[in-house]
Amino acid sequence: MQQTKALGWLLALAICISSPAHARTLHVVASFSILADVVKQIGGAQVVVKSLVPPDGDPHEFEPSPDDARALKEADIAFLSGEGLETWFQRLAQASGYKGKATVVSTGIETISMEEDGKSVTDPHVWNSVRNVIVWADNIEKALSAASPEDAAKFRSNATNYAKQLEQLDAYARAQIGAIPKEQRKVLTSHDAFGYFSRAYGVSFLSPIGLSTESEASAGDVAKLIDQIKKEGVKVYFIENSNDPRLVQQIAAATGAKPGGKLYVESLSAADGPAATYASLIRYNVDQIVTAISK
Ligand SMILES: [Zn+2]
Repeated sequence: MQQTKALGWLLALAICISSPAHARTLHVVASFSILADVVKQIGGAQVVVKSLVPPDGDPHEFEPSPDDARALKEADIAFLSGEGLETWFQRLAQASGYKGKATVVSTGIETISMEEDGKSVTDPHVWNSVRNVIVWADNIEKALSAASPEDAAKFRSNATNYAKQLEQLDAYARAQIGAIPKEQRKVLTSHDAFGYFSRAYGVSFLSPIGLSTESEASAGDVAKLIDQIKKEGVKVYFIENSNDPRLVQQIAAATGAKPGGKLYVESLSAADGPAATYASLIRYNVDQIVTAISK
């Protein structure tokens, strides 16, 4: 009798150890759509991700809704890119009663700075170099695993596979752009969102608006830019999916630069568009730029 009891107990224990604990689904908030996609790639079926700034939205300027505040308050993890991108987040966190500490995924990335109005400002657009998003993936994996240790192995395997895809994407960008003569690699865009792209892949970008779409160009800045575009022989311009194209169109008209199309600089397209994931966004931008500057 005693023996049967002990056996039953051992059996129950064995079942307990061998069957993995049923992990819960993590509810995650990401500040903007590009980051939300990368979190989905690592989190897989174990996470539900809400992007605060929607596809085609401007991550510098954002008016959160009551729904956004509720999602943040209830989130297991909130992810930010950081480096000055989400200037609106602190106010939303306070208003929503969010008690957690947001995970900044750009931690560990070697940032670049630009002079703006006599001040050195950190460029927040780190994702426009693919290698920086491998750092994101690593930070995201650590945060997800800390919140749900039962799924740590799954997150690690997703992150490893995704990093491999990103390595290939980075090599693709280098090869495509590297095939174009250096003196042709010059583009006009709306705002300074391509500092990391420029450093990684060797394309020069000129823009009337600074690092944040919240800044404005003076008449003097615009006149100087028009001179520079003519002097350097910049022949092509792009509009951006997430902000007003009028200023860049006016400048292009004054210089004779031709339209290259649209670039997805800091926001995904809608699900049926050409840049519905981070990887397709980079591939699309590289192809658009290469087509325009090879003419
Ligand atoms: Zn920007």
